[in-house]
Amino acid sequence: MKNIQTASKEEIAEIQWLRLKNQMLFLDQNSKFYHKRFKKNDIELSEIHTLEDLRKIPITTKEELQLYNHDFICVPKEDIIDHVTTSGTLGRPVSLALNNADLDRLALNEMQSFQIIGVKKEDVVQITTTLDRRFMAGMAYFLGLRMLGAGVIRTGSGLPQLQWDSIERFQPKYLIAVPSFLLKMIDYAQEHHIDFKKSSVKAAICIGESIRNMDLEFNALSKKIKQLWDIELFSTYASSEMATAFTECELHVGNHAQPDLIFTEILDQAGAPVKSGEVGELVISTLQNTTMPLLRYATGDMVSFIDDPCKCGRNTIRLSPVIGRNRQMIKLKGTSLYPQNVIDTINEFDKISLFVIIAERGNLGIDNLIIKIPDTSTLTLIQLFKEFLKSKLQVTPTLEMALPSDIEKLKYPEDGRKPRVFIDNRY
Ligand SMILES: [Zn+2]
Repeated sequence: MKNIQTASKEEIAEIQWLRLKNQMLFLDQNSKFYHKRFKKNDIELSEIHTLEDLRKIPITTKEELQLYNHDFICVPKEDIIDHVTTSGTLGRPVSLALNNADLDRLALNEMQSFQIIGVKKEDVVQITTTLDRRFMAGMAYFLGLRMLGAGVIRTGSGLPQLQWDSIERFQPKYLIAVPSFLLKMIDYAQEHHIDFKKSSVKAAICIGESIRNMDLEFNALSKKIKQLWDIELFSTYASSEMATAFTECELHVGNHAQPDLIFTEILDQAGAPVKSGEVGELVISTLQNTTMPLLRYATGDMVSFIDDPCKCGRNTIRLSPVIGRNRQMIKLKGTSLYPQNVIDTINEFDKISLFVIIAERGNLGIDNLIIKIPDTSTLTLIQLFKEFLKSKLQVTPTLEMALPSDIEKLKYPEDGRKPRVFIDNRY
């Protein structure tokens, strides 16, 4: 079969439209939620011919997915195989389910994502993220690598010693990792005199945290990693609801979409499409999904897109890193900030490596931003840090001193799958 990613833009649009129409017909017949939605809004699927027609269908919100969760399920209960939940970055995690066909689709998605990176059958990949804890991504990596025929090491999250031991034993070329965990691995290697620069690892496939700014240059976190360990870093972006990954190719110029598996719209607050380069909210429709397909689902993630053909030969749109979630925007003394701005700024400061950021909302509806830093920080350091924040962010968040072990506990919650440096207590 011809690779849709290198097809012309017109061909891509045609295939996507066909798949989207099929998905809508399927939803009308099998999804209680969408059947009702079409009916209530007088949507005649046979009359949807253009993108403008499509926008007559109201977006689906995370709250709806939470509230009417069962009404989204399109298959008999006995056909469901895997039960997972979203990460719950905002509010309670949402339940999702996959049947056999969805697991095959998930494997295909992840295999294609690895192919965009350039992973080959002969390569060995070490998965340093959890495969359990109701986490879709960890299993997706395994399924994708299996479909590709590559070697897999399932070390799971944490445990730097096990990670290095596995690297020595099995000589992986790639790590799949949360970027800040790479720093932990480097720390461990330095402490234990492991010659990590000479290891078999040539690249890390990064998940869960941004490694680039909106201009696609490395941010402070990835610069720190690159300085210590000069491996190639690939950015990926995915979520359980999308069940699809957006992935950087070897040119590192944005995360390529997989148009056979997902239909993307990037919209302003009025629901109109933004132009290439402008920031809007990512709204997705999953394609070829059967258990819980989503139509015009508002991810809450603010991104921009690039639609020039990529020099790698792919003609798919590419997404910028996520600047933040729309609801995560913090209004601080008249200045609007996204968590990622604050995280990048603290990482840039260099002298504070352990921190968490907490957003709260007071009685008057006013946001407050607290940065917890270790109580071992000196007065001079605190003063310098305050001035640095003020100069970079135009405002100074509240600083709170805490025991390093307490900050670690907040950052790595026991039931968590990824480190949390931003905790939103406003919702
Ligand atoms: Zn490319």
